[in-house]
Amino acid sequence: MMKEIRILDKNFREMITEREIMKRVEELAAEMNRELKGKDVVFLGILNGAFLFAADIFRKLEIPARISFVKLASYEGTKSSGSIKELIGWNEDISNKTVVVIEDIVDTGHTLDRIMAELTMRKAAEIRIATAFYKPDAYKGKVKLDYVGFEIPNEFVVGYGLDYDGFGRNLPSIYTLIS
Ligand code: 5GP
Repeated sequence: MMKEIRILDKNFREMITEREIMKRVEELAAEMNRELKGKDVVFLGILNGAFLFAADIFRKLEIPARISFVKLASYEGTKSSGSIKELIGWNEDISNKTVVVIEDIVDTGHTLDRIMAELTMRKAAEIRIATAFYKPDAYKGKVKLDYVGFEIPNEFVVGYGLDYDGFGRNLPSIYTLIS
């Protein structure tokens, strides 16, 4: 049976269930537990969208690990036209550490490029990327994704931290836009 919901003026249909997400989160955390053992690791959640995924992954870790969150803020450049995204909220020294970036969704990959540049500037020893969802057909980046929850079609989705106009983040499963 297809579950459908309405958020504001749009209709969405369930695409990935809460159960499927939780199972995949456990698999990814198990991989991290194996691969990151013995490393000096800092997890870096990207707000707002990744807060649920980051919490669910983090809870399943059995290695010593810290977590910190940063947020991408867009502001209008005074000289250039168009908006520039700035990462704000840094309070962790990541130099010489293994940083595991926790993203909600990788679409074109622009956000990821911006994050990679910042982490390189801050001299992370090693960078790994985890994302709950990934749209391979939209991706234009070159950065390799180390931990991917689900590959999804190039459609607009909400739930599990992802919003439509601020709403829908609390939905425990993933819904795709139908009309
Ligand atoms: P990118 O920079 O890779 O194109 O986009 C990444 C960001 O765009 C994500 O962190 C997310 O905030 C937003 N985004 C991309 N695709 C979707 C989507 O299908 N649904 C929602 N709610 N946000 C998305």
